[in-house]
Amino acid sequence: MINIELTKDDITKIEADAIVNAANSSLLGGGGVDGAIHRAGGKQILDECIEIRNRQGKCKTGEAVVTTAGNLPAKYVIHTVGPVWNGDEEKCSELLANCYQNSLKLAESLGLNTIAFTNISTGVYRFPKELAGKIAVKEIKNFKSEILEKVIFVCFDEENEEIYRTLLKE
Ligand code: ADP
Repeated sequence: MINIELTKDDITKIEADAIVNAANSSLLGGGGVDGAIHRAGGKQILDECIEIRNRQGKCKTGEAVVTTAGNLPAKYVIHTVGPVWNGDEEKCSELLANCYQNSLKLAESLGLNTIAFTNISTGVYRFPKELAGKIAVKEIKNFKSEILEKVIFVCFDEENEEIYRTLLKE
């Protein structure tokens, strides 16, 4: 079973095998956590993102790609593109679940033991935080793995931290 931890922190400071970035489909960086990761991690991350784009084009919503973590304490950055909330609960929920599943699969394919997630889509993309938290926790709990040992939910704001604290008690 995967061990789940919760922390309120800046994900660029987290020492995990991989941290998961809430990227946008361009993979060329943006605001929020994406901007923070590229700023702290340095140019190497962007260079690899550009290589991936040249190879496969944009990253579709719900999918995930991996790069080095540059100067960050993590080993890898998994970039996943969350859905922009548009009120279509069913479709947006499915896409957000895909983000978690594809990030976990990617981590597993690399043989990683620990992975730290941001609260994907709950910033500029406006996904309702409570629903996003429920999806995140459900996807981690349902993921069967022989390799992954620990998932860390890294909340940046108090509201998300409170939501996850309650969800993880259930
Ligand atoms: P999205 O476009 O997917 O909504 P954002 O970056 O706007 O992405 O927000 C996603 C989540 O990341 C939000 O809950 C935001 O509070 C959080 N966040 C922003 N900066 C950081 C950071 N340095 N570390 C961890 N989480 C962060």
